[in-house]
Amino acid sequence: MKSVIVIGAGMGGLAVALRLRRMGFAVTVLEKRSRPGGRSYVIEEDGYRVDTGPTILVMKEQFEQLYRDLGRDLHQRLQLTQLDPNYRLYFHDGRMLDLYPNMARLAQAVEAFEPGAGEKVFDFLGNNARKYALGMPFVTRNFDHLTDLANPIAGYRLFATAAHENLYRQVARYFQSDALRKAFSFHSMFLGLSPYESPAIYALITYADLARGMYFPQGGIYRIIEDLVTMAQEDGVVLRTSAPVAQILVENGRAVGVRLESGEELRADAVVSNADLPYTYRKLVPAGVRRDYSDRRLQRMKYACSGFLLYLGLDRTYPQLTHQALYFAEDYRANLDAIFVTGELPADPSFHLNCPTRSDPALAPEGHELLYVLAPMPSLEKGRVDWSRAAETVREQLLSRLEQVVDRDIRKHIVWERRYTPVDFERDLNAVYGTAFGSLAHNFFQSAYFRPHNVARALPGLYFVGQGTYPGIGMPMVMISAQLTAERLRTL
Ligand SMILES: Cc1cc2nc3c(=O)[nH]c(=O)nc-3n(C[C@H](O)[C@H](O)[C@H](O)COP(=O)(O)OP(=O)(O)OC[C@H]3O[C@@H](n4cnc5c(N)ncnc54)[C@H](O)[C@@H]3O)c2cc1C
Repeated sequence: MKSVIVIGAGMGGLAVALRLRRMGFAVTVLEKRSRPGGRSYVIEEDGYRVDTGPTILVMKEQFEQLYRDLGRDLHQRLQLTQLDPNYRLYFHDGRMLDLYPNMARLAQAVEAFEPGAGEKVFDFLGNNARKYALGMPFVTRNFDHLTDLANPIAGYRLFATAAHENLYRQVARYFQSDALRKAFSFHSMFLGLSPYESPAIYALITYADLARGMYFPQGGIYRIIEDLVTMAQEDGVVLRTSAPVAQILVENGRAVGVRLESGEELRADAVVSNADLPYTYRKLVPAGVRRDYSDRRLQRMKYACSGFLLYLGLDRTYPQLTHQALYFAEDYRANLDAIFVTGELPADPSFHLNCPTRSDPALAPEGHELLYVLAPMPSLEKGRVDWSRAAETVREQLLSRLEQVVDRDIRKHIVWERRYTPVDFERDLNAVYGTAFGSLAHNFFQSAYFRPHNVARALPGLYFVGQGTYPGIGMPMVMISAQLTAERLRTL
């Protein structure tokens, strides 16, 4: 039986391990941390259970597909609740807008904000539905040659949706008000890209979120990780935690195994790295055999943003809150430029506010509420923020905003609190520059064929899975990546 070592038990590492095991390989997963999950981690303390990373499932068909391919049924094993509304948006002037998955209600809500927008939202989502349909064939495939990108008919049709245009500019053509421009452009942030820098193709995420639905598994996103681990045990995948890999072993120009930090060596017919791709090249692949990803090339790549997270346990409930919300700073541009251009602390951070106990009260002690606050922040690349001091400043800014949008007396009700900074991402996950959602940004030259490939051309036997390779960042993309990488190993 041929054997594969997977470095990292993130969602991508676990999914590819399960697929490879199903294909008949002996699979060993080696994870640095004491628990699997990677960016999809959890804190369980004092009766609270909080997802520390991803909070919501989109494109659930990608998970259904994995389970089907493994001979299981997702819906028999996990209980998913659809969010409605998908988001509540809070604006600096006190106004609120709910974005519903029901198109008639969505149109009504935006019409109340901007006369005429009710009609335009259909045009906007229709255009993005076309981008989704035309773009997905480029997302769900492996690339070998540049010509794999060439599909003249799809290319022409995508061009007709102005997918190449700037995202914010395109949104601004549909909507006149500052509020709706914010409401329909923020999604590119989830790929670690500013809407002012993103191509409009990524408006397909807005369509996927709003029209195809957002879901929450009872028990939280970490239930998915737990279930992947259960299936791995059932199927005979070996999973070792607290087992950091120090180096990929190379013999005769081929990856033949790994050396752990403990000094132990393990050999296999192939190695799949789920650790951040630029980190894998820089730290795990011996310098002499990484011709295609030199330090210089890695340095020139464009990295995604990071984030500051605050998790709060409150000794009362807030039934008026929705599961998912966003707060937009007044000066959207200044906030985004600080994160993506200057690398400074935003003066007035926008943030994502989650209240998972609205869908699953069992995630906190009875009568308590759990809040998860995520403020996008610059990565550590430019080194302009000293997080040992900044963490307190940002916490204070976020609590002041929560006093406005949740409860003037919120501080009195905080009985449990944890935080996570870009420095923690770097330390815990080997996340390059402390990037949060994924390491490499999704600009044109780091997408599809141009994103690093899941096969290391210069080092046979080494493969990649997860957000660093194609298709890219986010849980559904990582699910697709696992399928594509497993296909690569079919011929091993
Ligand atoms: C705050 C936050 C919110 C997010 N929200 C969403 C969301 O709502 N929806 C969504 O779809 N996506 C969301 N994402 C993005 C999503 O979580 C990631 O894109 C995805 O989980 C990445 O999975 P992965 O398997 O590629 O890599 P990772 O999760 O990064 O896993 C890599 C693993 O490799 C391990 N590793 C690293 N180095 C070594 C080593 N030397 N030896 C052994 N192991 C090693 C790491 O410890 C880690 O476990 C969010 C991410 C964050 C951080």
